[in-house]
Parts: sequence; C-alpha cells; structure tokens
Amino acid sequence: MSDRLKNFVTEIIDGDLAADKHGGRVHTRFPPEPNGYLHIGHAKSICLNFGLAAQYGGKCNLRFDDTNPTTEDTEYVESIQADIRWLGFTWDGEVRFASDYFEQFYAWALHLIDAGKAYVDEQDVEAIRANRGSAQEPGTPSPYRDRPGAESRRLLEAMRAGDFEDGAMVLRAKIDMAHPNILMRDPLIYRIRKAPHHRTGDAWCIYPMYDYAHCLEDAIEGITHSVCTLEFDNNRALYDWFLDNLPVPYRPHQYEMSRLDLSHTVMSKRWLLQLVEQGEVSGWDDPRMPTLAGLRRRGVPPEAIQRFCLDVGVTKSNALTSPALLDFHIRETLNHEAARVLVVQDPLPVTLTNLPEDEVRWLDADLWPHDVPREGTRPLPLSRELLIDRSDFEETPPKGFKRLTPGGVVRLRHGGVIRCDQVRRSEDGEVSGLDCSLLSDDEARPKGTIHWLSTPHSLPVELHLVDRLFRSPQPGTTDGVDWLDELNPDSLRTIEGARMEPWLGASDPGTRFQFERQGYFMKDEQTSPSGQPIFVRIVELRDGWTKKQTTPQPAQPKAQAKPASSSQTRVQPAERSEALQTRMTELQERLGLPLQDAERLTRDEATDAYFQSGLNAGAAPRPLASLILNDLSGDQRPPIQQITELLEMEDQKGLQRNQRSVVLETMLKENCGPKAAAKALGLAEQTSLDLEALIGEVIDQHPAERDRYRSGEKQLFGFFMGACMRAARGGADPKALQSQLRQSLDSAP
Ligand code: ATP
Ligand code: MG
Repeated sequence: MSDRLKNFVTEIIDGDLAADKHGGRVHTRFPPEPNGYLHIGHAKSICLNFGLAAQYGGKCNLRFDDTNPTTEDTEYVESIQADIRWLGFTWDGEVRFASDYFEQFYAWALHLIDAGKAYVDEQDVEAIRANRGSAQEPGTPSPYRDRPGAESRRLLEAMRAGDFEDGAMVLRAKIDMAHPNILMRDPLIYRIRKAPHHRTGDAWCIYPMYDYAHCLEDAIEGITHSVCTLEFDNNRALYDWFLDNLPVPYRPHQYEMSRLDLSHTVMSKRWLLQLVEQGEVSGWDDPRMPTLAGLRRRGVPPEAIQRFCLDVGVTKSNALTSPALLDFHIRETLNHEAARVLVVQDPLPVTLTNLPEDEVRWLDADLWPHDVPREGTRPLPLSRELLIDRSDFEETPPKGFKRLTPGGVVRLRHGGVIRCDQVRRSEDGEVSGLDCSLLSDDEARPKGTIHWLSTPHSLPVELHLVDRLFRSPQPGTTDGVDWLDELNPDSLRTIEGARMEPWLGASDPGTRFQFERQGYFMKDEQTSPSGQPIFVRIVELRDGWTKKQTTPQPAQPKAQAKPASSSQTRVQPAERSEALQTRMTELQERLGLPLQDAERLTRDEATDAYFQSGLNAGAAPRPLASLILNDLSGDQRPPIQQITELLEMEDQKGLQRNQRSVVLETMLKENCGPKAAAKALGLAEQTSLDLEALIGEVIDQHPAERDRYRSGEKQLFGFFMGACMRAARGGADPKALQSQLRQSLDSAP
C-alpha cells in the first residue's frame, strides 16, 4: 500500500526523530497473547505497528505475550503467525516469546525486593482487592508490607520452588497505598499458578503479571514506541515505574490508541471461543467470524482489510465502526480484481423458440465492465434452452420493474434481446418455464439486463450466502437480552440447485469472482457433500443488509402480511407502552414501513421521537428509517438536521449511497454536518478541475510508473485508473476519470 500513515503516533515519531530521540530508530512490536485467533481488531494494531516500521525504515517484532499458562496454546501461536503473514506483514528476525525472558523477570523481581521496592504478601486475593481502597478512599497497607527484604526474598524463592499452593501468596511492588491512581497501590508482580506452560512446561509455577512483564519485554527488545489500546491509559504510570526502578537496557514509551470496535459482531476472545465451542459457528475460520481466519475463508482480500484499517485511522476516541465500511473497501478492492461471470441462483427454464435445437453460439464475452481498465474474455455458450433467475420474471410486475414480464423484452447479458411470448405452467399452476424469442437488436429497446445460462452447458454449484453474524449492532449491551439470542438466524444461507457458467468449472479454489448482479464470491477449498463446488459470498454488490431491513420481501403478497402479534422469532420489548404500540401500527399502516422496522423504531420513546423529528423535518420515511436503524448504533443521535441533509445529498446524487457509512462515520467522529464530512473525505462533487488536480496528484505520487507509461508501457493505464478511483474514494465518474486520466498521462511532462 502506498498510502502513508498519518496520525497522532506518527506525529510523536516525527517529533522524536527530529529531536534525535531513540538514536533515530523506530522499533515497534505486535504483542498478542496466544489465547485465541486474531480478529479484525487486532488487524488495526498489526497494520499500525508493522506499517510504522515499514514507513520509517524501522523494525517490528512479533512477540507472544505468553505469561498466562492456563489459557494459552500452540495452536494459537501457529494461527497468529499465519494470519499476520496473510495480512501481508513480516516481523523482524525470530518470533519472540515473553516466556524466553522469565529468568530475567525473576532476577529483576529479586532486585526490587533487595531495593526495598517489593514484598511478598500473604493476604489472599480478595483481601488485597478489598484493601486497595477506592477513588475516594486510600488503601489499607498489608500487614506484610514492611517485612524484611531477606524474608521476602526467601519466600519468593520458595514460591518459585513450588513450596506453596496457588493463591497462598503473591509478590507486590511497594509503591504507594494512597496513590490517586489505584493501579499504583502496590500492584501484583508475581502469582503462583501451578499449571504447565505451552513452552516452558513445568519449569515455572510462578508467573509475572501483565503490567510487570510488558514494559520489561519492550525494554529487553529495545522497543521505541509501544502502542496499546486506550484502556491501558492508567497502566502507563506503572509501565514507567518499573522501568524507572529497574536496571533495564532500554527505555521504551507507551502510547494508547482507540480500539477498533465493529458493530453486528463480537470481538471478545472469550465470546468468540464460546461461539466456536458451542458450535454456533463451524470453527474459528467460519466465514461469518470477525477473525482473520474467518475473513480469509469468506474471501475478503487482505488489501481490503489494510485499506479499511487505514481508513478507520488511529485516534484517541473510541467509536463503533459499521461493517459497511469494511464492505465498501472489499468492493473497492475486488472491483478491479474479480472477473464478472454469470450464475443463476434459482433457475427458471426459458426456451428460445426461434433457435434450432442443436444450435450453440459461442459468445466471446467480456470478463470486465467498461469502467474497469482490464481486458479479457471467456467463451460463453448460448443455446435454445436457457435458465434465468426466477426473481427476474414477474407476471404482475410492480411499477418500475425493468426485467422480464409476459410480452415484455429484456436484454440477456452478452446474449442479445429476448421477448417473453408465453408462460408455461405446471399442473398446480406454478410458472414452470417461459417460451421466448430472440430478437434482432433493432427490434426492441429493453429497459433491463439480466443474467442467464445455457441449460445443457451449465454446471451445478452450491452457494453460501454469508451475512452479519448478529442482528443487533452491539450484542450483549441490552439489559435482559442474552447476547447469544441476538445471533442473526439468517447469517448463513445455503443455496442448493444453483447453476454456473461452464468456464467457472475449471476455476481454482481461492479465486474470487463477481457474479453479475449478485455479489462477489470466492470458490471454497471444500466441496459440498454431493461433490459440488461451493462458492462463498464475500459481499453483496450493494448494501443488502440495509435493503433487507427496510423493504418488504416481494415474494410475500400483501394478503399474507401478518398482524403485529404474530409469533415471529424476534425479541419483543417486554413492555411497550400503549402509545408506542399505537405508533408502531401507525408507522406500518400509514407510512407503509415493514413490521420489523416499525417495531424497532418504536422500541423506546427516544428512538420514536428521533424518527418523528426527522419526518417533521421533511425526510422520506423509508430512507430515514433505514438510516436510523442500520447506519446509526443504538445511542448515536447526531442532530436530525444533519441526517436529513445527508439524505437530501444522496437524493440529489451529491453523494453515492455506498459512501453513506464513511460520511456518517466522519460526521460522528468530527461532530460535523454531511457537507463538511464529505468535503473532509474528498467526496465533494468532482468538478473537472478537481478531477484534474486529483489525477495530477496521483501521477506525481508514482513517478516511476508515470515514466514507464510515457515510454510505452501503456498497460499501466489500469494501474493509474485504480489509484485514481481509490483516491476519489468511489466519488468520481469512471468515464470522465478515464478520459481525463488519459489526457493527463499522455500530455507531455
Ligand atoms: P485479551 O487481552 O482479552 O486476551 P486482546 O484482544 O487484548 O484480548 P491481545 O492478544 O492482548 O488480545 O492483543 C494483542 C494486541 O492487539 C494488543 O496490543 C492489543 O492492544 C491489540 N488489540 C486487541 N484488540 C484490539 C482492537 N479491538 N483494536 C485495536 N487493537 C487491538
Ligand atoms: Mg490483551
């Protein structure tokens, strides 16, 4: 990735380099505890730490923080390394382990005892906790606090020798029992834990605490900038205290950044483990999991995760990030990497009655759309018997339906125009097939284009449609609702009976495609029980989550709409006031909102009032509902004018729908309106002048490629096109961009 990191950490580093601190070195580390698989939150830390090292010509260590024997395992040590490599990073030198430094930690503990700065405490853990005091009250010193150093030394040696049971005593630092920072009130250094360690076996039965070990690990490795997450803010005093009081070889510094918190999933390792162990998912690499293994299995390209992390940024304030932002970067990455192919999910047979039975036309079909500067075709057969997707035909089409209808015409992607002459029915009256005729190009002007397959050439395929793992944005945060009950029951749908074009039969597992009009998919390593290839959906082409939550399923005729009291599987707030109940019915009946949306908008007074104020300000009900329910998390309530303004911008095409989440994110982060946010993001409408400047900047950033292009390597055009599209963050019209780019590249330097 060519984009440079620029955040408060790089500002600190720039300052340090200017002041010649750390002798001009930048040395970071990524310090996972091997007690689970890495998830997308870790990716943020990985991208930052390895990214900083790369950017400053420095080093980044991989160090396993393996100081807790009971939860750690070599399975995790292996998976973590594989995941970091997959993400695209390499650590400096050998993998390091905190357990390699156990002897040194112990020697330094004796040093603290000898200096009168540590003591063995025989109070039990509860007493220690109780005696720590509170924010208002100072702590109570332990009766063992002033025992002679020689006695503490002897006891620590006996602890190490295994003379005492777990919990019998601990080693504590002797700092200040009245310190305003409670963590400084004689924190623990060592505890007894008689458990085998995945690397040191039973060599040790005392293990160091995180706060003691972490700073020493950094010091031993000569780390210059040690970045952790915000909740360790208060621990920094302790980090510094140990370094100040021990003869360490190096003096590192700790900095804290916000964690990445993604909605509609969970990231606590404990909960992820529970999902795996209870079989809620198929394993750590289930494509619905937020783990890197899961994202990889789903087909998410590592570059998309890198871009996402870069976009999320490194700040000092925690925020909830929508997975729509990750989806945005996945689409951005795959748009230029995934060839377009045809797959039919729910086949409806079509006979082209004016084609002879044995005729097969092999079409030379483009694999790439016009706005992607890549070339290539594949042979695509057209014959008398075809399959189209059942949802692309409507006998009684709703207004604005652009696909096939009785007597109507539609374009077959790559294949010409057809007209539906006759509907065939099975005995029970169901539509069982269509008789159509292939028209010449000037006979009709169809409004829509659909995907299709030649029946005899098509191949069976099983599709796995992956969706959000949880229904609610922040599982586990609603009182009285168990987080496991918030799992999305439709997070994985298996589609059997789908068909694909023959060219896909020879594709390798791990290859990604865009199934036209449906989404991006990757061929899985595994096949279905009946031996069919499996393709997993990486992401829909558009934000299907929002769509699903706001539009009624077209397959459900009105007559079947159930009353609000029907026993559908969703959580009903236990007590919905009568007023809210009335409002809910009103939203459904008067505004035509789907039941589920009406329910969620009236879950409490605040949400109802917020929605109402948006309506009063003139917003259309559906888009407003969708935005509140899907793009804002529970307690995010930016001023309603900003929200209506955002919807207006989308409406007037000043902003593309897929840019909404990025803009909202910035609005919330910067506390500004949508116009300012769009401007800050460089999403403001691109005038030709803007475009020229943007292109100029991109070209200047890649002087080597520019020179190669100008000396004849014209295939680099695609490279520049991709870089410009990224720089414009999807906000540029590809056609305009293409012609302006060609002009800029071809004009003499
Ligand atoms: P736990 O401490 O509960 O085991 P953890 O998520 O902190 O879980 P670690 O293995 O200690 O796991 O994390 C390794 C590194 O990744 C740490 O430096 C931590 O700060 C960072 N990290 C973990 N989760 C996130 C997150 N959500 N966002 C950013 N960084 C994270
Ligand atoms: Mg941790």
